[in-house]
Amino acid sequence: MSKILQAIRGMNDILPENIATWQFIETSFRKLMNQYAYAEIRMPIVEKTELFKRSIGEVTDIVEKEMYTFDDRNGDSLTLRPEGTACCVRACLQNGLLYNQQQRLWYMGPMFRHERPQKGRYRQFQQMGVETFGMSGPDIDVELIAMIARFWRMIGIENDVRLEINSLGTSASRKAYKSLLVEYLTQHKDKLDDDSLRRLETNPLRVLDSKNPALKEIIANAPKLLDHLDIESEQYFKNLCAQLDTLNIQYIINTSLVRGLDYYSQTVFEWVTDTLGAQGTVCAGGRYDGLVEQLGGKATTAIGFAMGVERLVSMVEQSVNTIRANTPAIYVIVVGEKAQQTVFPLIEAVRDVQPAISILVNCDGGSFKSQMKRADKSGAAYAFIMGEDEVAENKVCIKNLRENVAQQKMTKEELIKFIEENFKN
Ligand code: ATP
Ligand code: MG
Repeated sequence: MSKILQAIRGMNDILPENIATWQFIETSFRKLMNQYAYAEIRMPIVEKTELFKRSIGEVTDIVEKEMYTFDDRNGDSLTLRPEGTACCVRACLQNGLLYNQQQRLWYMGPMFRHERPQKGRYRQFQQMGVETFGMSGPDIDVELIAMIARFWRMIGIENDVRLEINSLGTSASRKAYKSLLVEYLTQHKDKLDDDSLRRLETNPLRVLDSKNPALKEIIANAPKLLDHLDIESEQYFKNLCAQLDTLNIQYIINTSLVRGLDYYSQTVFEWVTDTLGAQGTVCAGGRYDGLVEQLGGKATTAIGFAMGVERLVSMVEQSVNTIRANTPAIYVIVVGEKAQQTVFPLIEAVRDVQPAISILVNCDGGSFKSQMKRADKSGAAYAFIMGEDEVAENKVCIKNLRENVAQQKMTKEELIKFIEENFKN
């Protein structure tokens, strides 16, 4: 026998036994998007490498070490998308969606990052995200946060997540702050790790984003960007907080929250949980007013967020009883050649009039007994039995698999009526 090939490390199959939770989360997200009148957009999975270098920033974890980059057959450098924002901006610009218009968009799909695989951190993972354009906030910022808070309630994890917010101000206010930060970090140079030393030169704000526990104290005592905002940014942030208060949305102001990407300004936020161990951020977002221009468009205000679906699946699996899917309502047992010939026309007719009911028809034969076993294992509530006798009588036998009631034989009309009465959903 030849060797069985394995999937790429960090890229997982999502198996039927787990799919119900995935579908529940995805369906809930679609409903949420409909509630807020957002439109779906689908972008390619592969883009030019340059798109991510120009948007996410050269001195970021993603671009420095996490991208799946390769030359295609023409020698063009391509990258499997590590996130959706840059792709969405590119798509909007290319298709003229930003020309004198506002946009409220959402997407879901796989993202790729070459990270060390561990629980909650994979090389292919799923994100659901929103990007909005042409609204300068903070009203739209509030809408996004309220929408996410509603989503947590929809999927039943509202008590296990908390919101952290911060303001990065305008790039002008960041510039003044940067020199203060550099001065402070330079004083503590001996305690910084290699990454941070490098960032001190190239992108000092990024030092605040370090996950190295040894740097926690230095970061906590660093001068705070929030204390050095220009008046306008300060007003903006106050207004945002006041609106969240009115909505009764709890938040923590985390002054070292800077996010790992270069394009943010003003509002940044993360939703975190303590239930997943180290990979605790389940949703992250912020305002990126400069990105559209940076990618060649006209200056356009923008704010968005993305959620990591694997982490949400873990949370929902931990907090909600497992959601069962792929359970047929009816298992159809077929014994004998004649039954085989009559079963499909009958069941197709049932599917015509009862399109919402899940019916599994036994294929590939088997004795009555073995088919009964399969029916039971499938989780179906009823078995419909088609054997020689039923064919001769032009009827079907209905057996309740979960309750001890007598089985009955029914004509096609009786059967359809029976289904109507017993499967109301
Ligand atoms: P982290 O700090 O966990 O590395 P990040 O700041 O790199 O996250 P973003 O780029 O903001 O993450 O992506 C948004 C969300 O996508 C994260 O909050 C997380 O839930 C999820 N996510 C990011 N990277 C991964 C990954 N490698 N595997 C699974 N989920 C991920
Ligand atoms: Mg990361």
